Amino acid sequence: MDCLFCKIVRKEIPADIVLEDERFLVFHDIQPKAPLHLLIIPKKHIHSVDHVEIEDKELMGELILTSQKVARMHNLKGYKLQINVGREGGQVVDHIHLHLLADIAK
Ligand code: 5GP
Ligand code: ZN
Repeated sequence: MDCLFCKIVRKEIPADIVLEDERFLVFHDIQPKAPLHLLIIPKKHIHSVDHVEIEDKELMGELILTSQKVARMHNLKGYKLQINVGREGGQVVDHIHLHLLADIAK
């Protein structure tokens, strides 16, 4: 798959990875918009929220649980989660990703 985030999953492009398991990869955004700015992605290539199918519902639940896990890893008291959908929604990379933004980097 000729996709930037799939290439990061395959380690063809380096990233500052904070968590990896069978289904997810979490890494630092290259242009952070907050002191802590992580991207949480499923390893499975899904173009956007608009392309999520019923068979992905468990994976999408696990995406949220993965954000909770990394927030706990960083001892965050609060954080923001954001998903941009489509060009007009600000999505630039066409591989579904959840932004986690927080004020305190630890
Ligand atoms: P989007 O606008 O699609 O929701 O977010 C894409 C994000 O990916 C942006 O915040 C951008 O800074 C980040 N990004 C783009 N290219 C790379 C890259 O090569 N490595 C990393 N770690 N982040 C990237
Ligand atoms: Zn991809």
